[in-house]
Amino acid sequence: MHKNLINGQWLDGAAVSRNINPSDTRDLIGEYAQADAAQADLAIAAATAAFPAWSLSTPQQRFDILDAVGSEILARRAELGDLLAREEGKTLPEAIGEVVRAGNIFKFFAGEALRPGGESLPSVRPGVGVEITREAVGVVGLITPWNFPIAIPAWKIAPALAWGNCIVFKPADLVPGSAWALAEILSRSGLPAGVFNLVMGRGSVVGEKLLNDPRIAAVSFTGSVATGQKVAAACVARMAKFQLEMGGKNPMVVLDDADLGVAVNAAVNSGFFSTGQRCTASSRLIVTDGIHDRFVAAMVEKMKTLKVDDARKAGTDIGPVVDASQLGQDIDYLGIAQAEGGRLAHGGARLEHNADGAPGFYLTPALITDTTPEMRINREEVFGPVVSVIRARDYEHALALANDTPFGLAAGIATTSLKHATHFKRHSQAGMVMVNLPTAGVDYHVPFGGRKGSSYGPREQGRYAAEFYTTVKTAYTQA
Ligand code: NAD
Repeated sequence: MHKNLINGQWLDGAAVSRNINPSDTRDLIGEYAQADAAQADLAIAAATAAFPAWSLSTPQQRFDILDAVGSEILARRAELGDLLAREEGKTLPEAIGEVVRAGNIFKFFAGEALRPGGESLPSVRPGVGVEITREAVGVVGLITPWNFPIAIPAWKIAPALAWGNCIVFKPADLVPGSAWALAEILSRSGLPAGVFNLVMGRGSVVGEKLLNDPRIAAVSFTGSVATGQKVAAACVARMAKFQLEMGGKNPMVVLDDADLGVAVNAAVNSGFFSTGQRCTASSRLIVTDGIHDRFVAAMVEKMKTLKVDDARKAGTDIGPVVDASQLGQDIDYLGIAQAEGGRLAHGGARLEHNADGAPGFYLTPALITDTTPEMRINREEVFGPVVSVIRARDYEHALALANDTPFGLAAGIATTSLKHATHFKRHSQAGMVMVNLPTAGVDYHVPFGGRKGSSYGPREQGRYAAEFYTTVKTAYTQA
């Protein structure tokens, strides 16, 4: 039984959840405690009590802890990657890559703990000095989704600790294993009791407790738009700080002058890898007339070579969908897209078993052509290996289609034209723009986030994370 970490103690929950391997649903990874609201309350109380001392801890103390956590994650990349692939279903190389990213994030924020910065200015009044400093916000509630079970927790936990905040962390129900492993590392890192608390449990119970408790000063949330709206409403009602990272319907524009191989590789990678379960996945391919048919044909040829199988098996390109409910959603959207006039050019087959006969949530990657911008497949996030193609007349039309979405997380363009690449970088209404690269797959030391319905509040990651995890103080001194 994997327990919750509250005030430095491992505590049983009020209930138990079973962590199942989506590549082989007979494989029980482990049992995990599920906290109730009373236990979340204990965690909030512990974090509140720990805050005064931790917020005044030295930069050296925070550096040492974060650096050591990063080192342990990196040293255990193979084992933690195996656990991640087993519980979430991304392939082993992808999972190990995510673990490495988490380790690097802790190392990055270890360094940030040493350089919080600040400004010293003369006042406009004689004899007065002004100092601008950053202070910890307080107790932060961190709520994460299932699709990056260790990287997203890392990119919230590491900056929160680096700048002196205390944490109550609620991971997604589907992937408690990576969250628990990370918490176990943190529990041995030298953090004082109560600074970091793990509270696994239901969103409607533990999550809502974090949203509504006045001792939680700020909530960082990554997940769906529907839940994000609840987070926003609850936080606004009590004037708590919050930040939301939500869904995407990310376009990739392919222009006539694109290098076909580069375009296909970028589209296949960001459309289908990690089973399409990435908020930055390219789910809309917007392709100009002159290359459209060649591009679709090359996509289908490439897709035929992709092996859908057990996430941890060597040679697997695409693992299973995360669970039955997400698989059902993916299949529903395949039906909706075809009912609205889209053509299934390739894939979309439900495989009940993998190559070894194990039962799992397998779906072959699907490409739907002949779609138009108003179709639901082009407006709503599917969050699976399902990609649509929209035909565009020219660059200007493609840009307009790319921006015609309620989302604005990432956008890509495949082109050999400097003029169009430069124009697209400036005029794409997305937080992150990629030229001749997949829309998914970003660096760990630079800001991450979007616009419009994809994000709300300050950016995560890199030095920009300070905007959320610190509050600015302006102090005046008469000399
Ligand atoms: P989700 O919204 O269902 O759940 C996210 C988290 O919120 C989970 O921990 C869940 O338990 C919790 N939660 C659920 N109801 C709650 C409530 N009422 N109050 C408080 N917490 C609650 O999302 P998911 O299915 O886990 O993740 C998939 C979504 O995440 C997709 O939409 C994807 O695009 C998005 N995502 C976004 C980013 C990004 O950075 N923009 C990154 C990864 C995933």
